[in-house]
Amino acid sequence: MVIYLSLDLEQNIQYVKGVGPAKALLLNKLGIYTLKDLMEYYPRVYEDRTKLKSISEFLNGEQVLFTAVVSAPIHVQRIRKNLSIYTTLVSDDTGVCKMTWYNQTYLKTKLIEGEKYLFYGKADLKHGRPNIESAQIYNLEDLPKIQGIYPIYPLTAGITQNYLFKLENLVYDSNILIEDIFSNEFRKKYELAEINYAMRNVHFPSSFNAINVARNRIIFEELFLFQIALMSIKNSGIGVKKTTVFKDVDVTPFLKLLPFELTNAQKNVVEEIKHDLSSDKVMNRLVQGDVGSGKTMVAALAMYMAVKNGYQASMMAPTTILANQHFDELSKYFEKLGINTAIITSSTTKKTKKEIVDKLKNNEINILIGTHSLIEDDIEFNNLGLVITDEQHRFGVKQRMKLSSKGQTVETLVMTATPIPRTLAIILYGDLDISIIDEMPPGRSPVITAVRDESSEDKINNFLKSQINEGRQIYIVCPLVEENEELDLNSVQTLFEKYKNDTFKEYSVEFLHGKMKNKEKDEIMQRFKENKINILISTTVIEVGISIPNATVMVIENADRFGLAALHQLRGRVGRGKYQSYCILKSSNRSVNARERLKIMEKSNSGFDIAQKDLELRGPGDFFGIRQSGMPEFKLANLLTDATILKKSQEAAKELVTKDKNLELEENKKIKEALFKKFGEQLTNIAT
Ligand code: ADP
Ligand code: MG
Repeated sequence: MVIYLSLDLEQNIQYVKGVGPAKALLLNKLGIYTLKDLMEYYPRVYEDRTKLKSISEFLNGEQVLFTAVVSAPIHVQRIRKNLSIYTTLVSDDTGVCKMTWYNQTYLKTKLIEGEKYLFYGKADLKHGRPNIESAQIYNLEDLPKIQGIYPIYPLTAGITQNYLFKLENLVYDSNILIEDIFSNEFRKKYELAEINYAMRNVHFPSSFNAINVARNRIIFEELFLFQIALMSIKNSGIGVKKTTVFKDVDVTPFLKLLPFELTNAQKNVVEEIKHDLSSDKVMNRLVQGDVGSGKTMVAALAMYMAVKNGYQASMMAPTTILANQHFDELSKYFEKLGINTAIITSSTTKKTKKEIVDKLKNNEINILIGTHSLIEDDIEFNNLGLVITDEQHRFGVKQRMKLSSKGQTVETLVMTATPIPRTLAIILYGDLDISIIDEMPPGRSPVITAVRDESSEDKINNFLKSQINEGRQIYIVCPLVEENEELDLNSVQTLFEKYKNDTFKEYSVEFLHGKMKNKEKDEIMQRFKENKINILISTTVIEVGISIPNATVMVIENADRFGLAALHQLRGRVGRGKYQSYCILKSSNRSVNARERLKIMEKSNSGFDIAQKDLELRGPGDFFGIRQSGMPEFKLANLLTDATILKKSQEAAKELVTKDKNLELEENKKIKEALFKKFGEQLTNIAT
């Protein structure tokens, strides 16, 4: 049987037999665009379908595979418009089992009384006679395929388990072979299976042990390539000795201007930074601190020290709104100290930008705050000595490096509210030191959090009104910008119309989303800051950093759509002033899992605890924002749970790069090709 038009792995999935344009679109949703994607679409878990059972052997709650004859007519009971129940009896030599399905119209024609089929489902023995709901039905001749360890794939609407199973079967039955990028010697050395064995067994394992061997091989390759890519783009300045160390700076003049005293945690971190700067090694420090712990001030003090040493400093934030906020807050202090501060974002006009660049080159500007716009090529400094990245998880490694490369030897500080385990941090950021701000400024009362469904709508709205009447302001966050019928989410625009014209028509309601022009966004934020807007409806553009003490309520629509870390970040937008603040998580998702996840938010106000839970529930890919930060998403590897393989692959990568820095040796040719295919232009050091 010829399945493919050609054996091209990059071939569009649409042309694989049994797919076609409609199914292809659905598969695209799963990230499957090519034949290769399909082959690399790995099962999430496996079911043990190795044993064929007799009905009398069923245990309560057990997943069973068995053959039986349909021994009664199919009975249909129409409960209401969308609910029909199909029941029948099936029997083998040992007993009778009741079978129940819901809304499976095709059953009437598929199951024929007196015929024998293969079934798989969960046995329920609680009511005497065994009963199985929603069993999967196969023809007898499918037995050899179905019996064994059965892969379970992540799905999307319109793509069933069975369909994917058959599709993968088709592909792997065609004996298509992949070239192994590792040589025999390499595989022997690191105890790795051959790639085709691994691929086949990860989908259709011959034993549970084979799954481990297969996964181990595939994960190793993913992590290995990732490590090499990282090595090629990592800051080469890390750990470098400095020619001139910083002299000690008295920060009292700066501290005197502040309306508050630093917390002890802030003071400690400032000391650590001071120590780094005056040592002979270039600083590479990550400052972790929960939302609202006061990282900005720590950054400001570091910049002050750099400037007092005659250097320029630069601070990069992920959004214009946040960059503006930093600028507004910090420039007022710096101006008083005779330090010149400027800001560059995508809304800076050409003319202003040129003025700033000129002044930067003449050292007339000491501190430059901004967004990604800072890393553009035309921004040149006179004597850049310190670079700070705020909310680092929003940036790629390359972006951070690019800003640092604008100076000779540049001290770096990265700040995050996202706690990252040390081992992982080292992989992602190189050999860096970590400081933790583990104390909140005094006088903050924890935000009161409540999970509510649509039945509380009126109550919530009345509460919001009472808060506004007391002079407070409200944030409402929605997951999407445009209405998505399929998901039925409350979009910013629809909610805005409804609230402005109806629910909250006596108040000032505005909206904000990522697709608006920066100028518009800034204007709205400015008006919100001035309390000219009562309710601000937005997407997660306000997720990071924004600090408006008068805003006391954060309402999050479809809260179950967000990760806990994101929810915690959003919640961190309130509780920033002296007023009691509230976070209302709206969700009509009734699933136990979703409820449980949101309940964690009610119970904990600690970003670290929440992060830990989120990690357990969702895995690190989503959590660390690896996707946003330009890090690859792994198909199989999990940076946390696969720590052993990670370590091994790291050693292997190091060894390879030490021996063959630019991957020029013939034996490494395939590795290099794979690397470029995967990471392409992100690679800088490895010569093409
Ligand atoms: P984050 O760590 O989330 O970046 P910020 O730096 O934005 O937090 O600080 C949150 C708020 O706390 C700001 O309004 C800031 O002025 C204030 N703040 C910072 N340090 C202190 C302190 N030691 N005492 C009181 N308020 C502080
Ligand atoms: Mg911040």
